[in-house]
Amino acid sequence: GKVSDTRKEREKLRRAIEAAKAELSRDEMTLRQSLGKEEAEIFRAQTLVLEDPELLEASEKASGDGHENAAVAWHRSYQAAAAAYQGLSDEYLRRRAADIQDIGHRVLEALGIQRRQVPHLPQPGILVADDLTPAEAAGLSRDSVLGVICLQGGRTSHAAILLRARGIPAIAKAKPVFDREGVSPVNGTTTAAFDGESGKLWLNPSAEELHQLRVQKEARELETARVARLSHEPATTTDGKTVKVLANLGHPAEAADALNSGAEGVGLFRTEFLFLNRNDVPDEEEQFAILRALKEPMDQRPVVIRTLDIGGDKLVPALNLPSEANPFLGIRAIRLCLERRELLRTHLRAILRAAHGGNFRIMFPMITDPHELREATAELEGVHAALVREKKTHAWPIPLGIMIEVPSAAILIEQLARSVDFFSIGTNDLTQYMLAADRGNPGLAQFHDSLHPAVLRLISTITSSAHEQGRPVGICGEAASDPIAASLFIGLGVDELSLAPGLIPKIKESIRRIARKDMKALAAEAQELATGADVRALIGRKL
Ligand code: PEP
Ligand code: MG
Repeated sequence: GKVSDTRKEREKLRRAIEAAKAELSRDEMTLRQSLGKEEAEIFRAQTLVLEDPELLEASEKASGDGHENAAVAWHRSYQAAAAAYQGLSDEYLRRRAADIQDIGHRVLEALGIQRRQVPHLPQPGILVADDLTPAEAAGLSRDSVLGVICLQGGRTSHAAILLRARGIPAIAKAKPVFDREGVSPVNGTTTAAFDGESGKLWLNPSAEELHQLRVQKEARELETARVARLSHEPATTTDGKTVKVLANLGHPAEAADALNSGAEGVGLFRTEFLFLNRNDVPDEEEQFAILRALKEPMDQRPVVIRTLDIGGDKLVPALNLPSEANPFLGIRAIRLCLERRELLRTHLRAILRAAHGGNFRIMFPMITDPHELREATAELEGVHAALVREKKTHAWPIPLGIMIEVPSAAILIEQLARSVDFFSIGTNDLTQYMLAADRGNPGLAQFHDSLHPAVLRLISTITSSAHEQGRPVGICGEAASDPIAASLFIGLGVDELSLAPGLIPKIKESIRRIARKDMKALAAEAQELATGADVRALIGRKL
């Protein structure tokens, strides 16, 4: 409807955008814990769209010139942006139209307009949709939706990535099959079957076909069950190298699931979840209680507690962090902790006390050079001394490690190795810093590949320098859960992998199929190539 007070409408829209952003960051956090980083990044990238000044300007213009109310003006401008993406020739960019729709819906909802609802299936069945937005894919009930057929969409769509990660089979671009078979995709009941791997779809299959498909389904379920059973066995390559496979956790409640999936411990406990989504800072007792909860389920298995990794894109309102022009190159993680010594001390006290009687280790994130490591270690020793004076039970000595995420640290391994017991490579950050490509910028997708030859070469120098000093090297970035990347990392000498718990059985199974010596040869070949995509093509051909 037309309005006269356009300023009020503009204000309303800005508030709705802020509300949508807050909701997005909550969803991102939940997803990061339940599925993993890559999936969560989808929602982070959406936040960037909301920050696009053009979109806001277009709606403000509509509301100013046309006297449109906030919802109408917003609807018009995001639809236009989505249509612009839809018209692009690049398949990847075209898929981003669904993200714009998603964001558009969120803001409309914040303006009081209900978003499209995925209908509830009366009994478990296959959902047929034109296309799904990422938020819809993340919210589907796994109990009632056995699979998803998208008439449009594509494998690279964010909805497809989310469905895959959640274990819901899906196929895309199914419209031609419906047309050919003369079946209407809307209303009515149709028997359908599809193979999410090959993308093949059967509409109204014959009794014979249906029987065949059921047999195939059972065989696949048996295979999944076999892999799940084997997940409790070690992952040893065909030539006898056993690689430790651990879990990345963000909350102690995930520990039981991780053990069920075959995790041999926790390779990365992301403590920042203790601090996000709240308006105060947790005190020592609260931190202690949460960390302590890891001890019982993990028993004597190793548990690596990473000290606070906030700043950058992870904001904690209660800390009043000053805004920075380049947050990823700013005061984040250990840098922030060294600026806020009280925060670090409280945190380290909680960790050392919780570690008593368990097999905990401490890991500092984002270490840049030996001086910074010395500063952090001095704090740790100071906290130990204080706890001794206070006669408080705590673990000491405690194994100490650092994350290798900054290229300078990767180059200084030899010096750093003298002061630590282990290294863990954070390929998410190491890749972004190595290739100077912000990990949240979707326009730089070609560089967000931890299999880029430059990253492989760096990892190779990290493992060889660390091994010369007798220090083990793990990988805890997202790439550790990708079977192709994991195989190459093993070829590069990596000793441990730490990943989202749900993907552990699959990674263990893929390790058992390779010989380390073959991977070593492949890794050498890969380092001669030009891009991450070239490396993937090479490994795809050979594996
Ligand atoms: C990494 O950077 O690879 C990592 C594991 O740390 P985070 O993703 O939490 O920054
Ligand atoms: Mg990191």
